[in-house]
Amino acid sequence: EEEIPEDHPRYQDLLTRHRIERGVEKGITHLQGMHAEGRGSAFDYLLGEETIPSADDAERAAAAHLLLAEHPVLSINGNVAALVPGEMAELADVVNADLEVNLFNRTPERIEAIADHLREHGADDVKGLTADAHIPNLEHERSKVDADGIYEADVVLVPLEDGDRAEALDEMGKIEIVIDLNPLSRSPQVADVPVVDNIIRAIPNITEHARRLADADEAELREIIEAFDREGALEDAEERIRSGDL
Ligand code: ATP
Ligand code: MG
Repeated sequence: EEEIPEDHPRYQDLLTRHRIERGVEKGITHLQGMHAEGRGSAFDYLLGEETIPSADDAERAAAAHLLLAEHPVLSINGNVAALVPGEMAELADVVNADLEVNLFNRTPERIEAIADHLREHGADDVKGLTADAHIPNLEHERSKVDADGIYEADVVLVPLEDGDRAEALDEMGKIEIVIDLNPLSRSPQVADVPVVDNIIRAIPNITEHARRLADADEAELREIIEAFDREGALEDAEERIRSGDL
């Protein structure tokens, strides 16, 4: 990170790529994560590499859901751990959520490495190592979750999630918040709250909204959730990407 000059016009993008590379080297990110990063980077370029207003609305609604939740869980994969470990730990702290490692390419070594990495960045308790429950209607390995974590959560934040798993979680009746730069991907399409923004900007902004809403009563939080227009947010992001209007 030290080698990238801060005044470089693509500073954020280079920083992001560098973090994924480091994640692969450290054994917390799968090589596939590099491809996911590349796709995300292309969409972010077309969005102007900024949080568009409809994404900010989604981030506020996400904060309201997390604050209202009985048992919120933030799901962590290899890209999320490489990009925003401390930010995820901070959000978990602010909304009183669990962190759970949840991998598409699951190996005990990678789960351990990610859990350690999160703890190094301030996480207290990391779930996902027990894996004593299954998400129904998913291939065995891909479905493993903690019984007292994602399995029983009422609200789940799943950044950069695979489409099949996002659908299966939706079918379990969970309130699902998805962060994904591609508004056409299945994961944001099935989300209650699709956040079309770079996770690097999205997580700190959700945390900031949560801090501001910390004293809001239940009625106010419900109002924010009611007012959020998920179809509108998806259409808005798609329009922005297609327009080429930066
Ligand atoms: P599928 O159609 O199976 O969902 P996909 O192209 O969406 O395939 P995945 O690997 O499942 O690929 O998902 C990666 C997703 O994460 C992509 O939609 C990509 O845009 C998004 N993404 C990558 N990096 C970021 C990031 N930093 N912030 C937000 N979203 C990102
Ligand atoms: Mg996808």
